Amino acid sequence: MIKIAWHPLYAHPLPEGHRFPMLKYELIPEQLLHEGTITSQNLFNPEQVSEDIILLSHEKAYWEQLRDLTLSAKDQRRIGFPLNAQLLERELRITQGTIDAAHFALTNGIAFNVAGGTHHAGSNWGEGFCLLNDQAVAANYLLNKNLAQQILIIDLDVHQGNGTAEIFQNEPRVFTFSMHGDKNFPFRKEISSLDVPLDDGVQDEEYLSSLSVNLKKAFERAKPDFVFYLSGVDVLFTDKLGKLALSKAGCKERDSMVLQACKNKNLPVQVSMGGGYSADIRDIVDAHCNTYRLAFDLFV
Ligand SMILES: [Zn+2]
Repeated sequence: MIKIAWHPLYAHPLPEGHRFPMLKYELIPEQLLHEGTITSQNLFNPEQVSEDIILLSHEKAYWEQLRDLTLSAKDQRRIGFPLNAQLLERELRITQGTIDAAHFALTNGIAFNVAGGTHHAGSNWGEGFCLLNDQAVAANYLLNKNLAQQILIIDLDVHQGNGTAEIFQNEPRVFTFSMHGDKNFPFRKEISSLDVPLDDGVQDEEYLSSLSVNLKKAFERAKPDFVFYLSGVDVLFTDKLGKLALSKAGCKERDSMVLQACKNKNLPVQVSMGGGYSADIRDIVDAHCNTYRLAFDLFV
């Protein structure tokens, strides 16, 4: 059975004046349940990740400032919202959700986290709504527990996976592949194992042909036994931040190429959602739900 990490705190409202869309974390499972793609059996509520596991990926001083809610005002501005106990707990549950989902992927082929994809968090900083880097923490966890030897992180969120790239810059067992808008946030990019920067306005055909070539390259170079996929839907033309111009069908084809490749190669894959900022929440939810619909077609 395909397992999906979710917790009510995922949709916890941000403090007044902060407009990061949290509603999708409630609407994605609701839509999937409503249409019958999933049942409540597919969902599980993750606990909070423990400190020793966090410290495999994040520096102690940074983690302690998060834990004690003592991050400076400047550091909180870089994150994009003021830190509080519930937002920290939310992040700890998201991170554990990705670890649990990685375990489920090892048994079932694929597993999801309704949130996660917090790829801007680096070893000693939080940024762009990301406190801890869920897939980086889960990747280091798998290596540490000897559950994987070579990991490929496929990051197709429109923003570069700068935190992920930095965390693994000296780790040959983790191959980081990021396809992203060249002229988009973060403006100071880190160096991934394979970066594919795209011009503004790129549409389906160009995007998908570049993905086809580079996905092949990434698998060949990484030789993975485990895959993490960050399936941000801020590549859509309707997205307010993305600057690319993919259609919803193009975005679904993108997911299909990744999931099909994992399935064909018999590689377990954990999927985290990442960004999505279309003006109409229905576009965000529908595009995210497409990733699940594909997985339930391919893997069940
Ligand atoms: Zn993004």
